[in-house]
Amino acid sequence: MRFDGIDMAALERDLIALRREFHRYPESGWTEFRTTARIITELEKLGLSVRFGPSIHVREKMHGLPSDEVLEECWQRAMRETDRPELVEAMRGGYTGCITEIEGALPGPTVGIRVDIDCNDVEEADDPKHIPAAEGFRSTHKNCMHACGHDAHTAIGIGTARLLCACREKLRGKVILVFQPGEEGLRGAASLTATGAFSGCDYFFGGHVGLLRDKRVGMVAASGHGFLSSTKLDVTFRGVPSHAGASPELGKNALAAAATAVLNLLAIPRHSAGASRVNIGTLQAGTGRNVIPGEAAMTLETRGGSREINEYMEAAARRVLQAAAEMYDCGCEIRFMGSAGDIVCDKPLVARVIELLGTVDGVDEVLPDVDFGGGEDVTTMMRDVQEHGGQVTELVFCMALKAPHHNNYFDVDERVIGLAARVFATLALEVEKP
Ligand SMILES: [Zn+2]
Repeated sequence: MRFDGIDMAALERDLIALRREFHRYPESGWTEFRTTARIITELEKLGLSVRFGPSIHVREKMHGLPSDEVLEECWQRAMRETDRPELVEAMRGGYTGCITEIEGALPGPTVGIRVDIDCNDVEEADDPKHIPAAEGFRSTHKNCMHACGHDAHTAIGIGTARLLCACREKLRGKVILVFQPGEEGLRGAASLTATGAFSGCDYFFGGHVGLLRDKRVGMVAASGHGFLSSTKLDVTFRGVPSHAGASPELGKNALAAAATAVLNLLAIPRHSAGASRVNIGTLQAGTGRNVIPGEAAMTLETRGGSREINEYMEAAARRVLQAAAEMYDCGCEIRFMGSAGDIVCDKPLVARVIELLGTVDGVDEVLPDVDFGGGEDVTTMMRDVQEHGGQVTELVFCMALKAPHHNNYFDVDERVIGLAARVFATLALEVEKP
């Protein structure tokens, strides 16, 4: 009854086609130029005005930007692949993502909905057993793949906009719909949030497909807990290269400093108050067998079951890094690349979401609260909303997982796309009882 007069089958076909297109042209954090232009085109078709480019970002808060060379290379690629070069032009330098507002005909609350649009740095499986390869929409970008379902999220966001635009006369208040870049690495949310774009939201929703094992389409979680706070750091140790046989005493061994740091990072005492983690994901050092290594680079992350625990882990990590560098008389540069906090979903809102989920076509099992068990930088937006008196929750749209997230065989059960769009649109239409 809610979406009477809308050809849902046709909408779902369109959204699946869009998802497959986004899947073919995946772009990683801060390089979603073509993707953003395509989203804008779809939103403009609905008569919506879309904000994008530098005005929706705060440059100092654009964490974990790729190098200028990578940004430029990806931008050039997007210029070749887009049919809207004038839009891509305006995003040069990494100003990706966009925000639109859908005004209802009736007075009411402001509802924020966020979807993320970036891909992973993964080379997609080229195997007929993998549906995107078999059906011709495998990634065309080397080492880029939508392996977390953000292609589906992007289509879900567009579907939500279509449904809401078709129901404007019933919509109370307004909906702020944000297509966020750079979720992977927890990089994108802070910049969009710092403009104050979401501070006025009375309600704010995020959502993710998949995540939970042994589930299927039709099951939807109304809220999550166990979001880990996390900080991402890039570290460079700088020493002095020297001849390993003739003059080792003139060298300063950056590899030794980095290796010392690794072992001691892993030895940081864990915290009794909750989960505490550290991982050194990459380490590269040295130039040749007989050269004292002059430089070493590592990427690492800390996590905590609360903001305080992560702060403890991050402070200990920074201390270890500096001390290890000092031990070998090397320099140590630590670059902050991204972070996200924990969040507690608001109980009154979650109760309302549980009620409403039961009324959405295609939802046949509601999970009240699930363990999220990872980081999500939507929490940065959500904290801002809560600090300004609004309520938030993060949903999970379940589906069977053929492969884990971030795996090169990851795939989406496309039936989740239309369903999730109906869920978001229903929440926006009815979160506040008339
Ligand atoms: Zn994801």
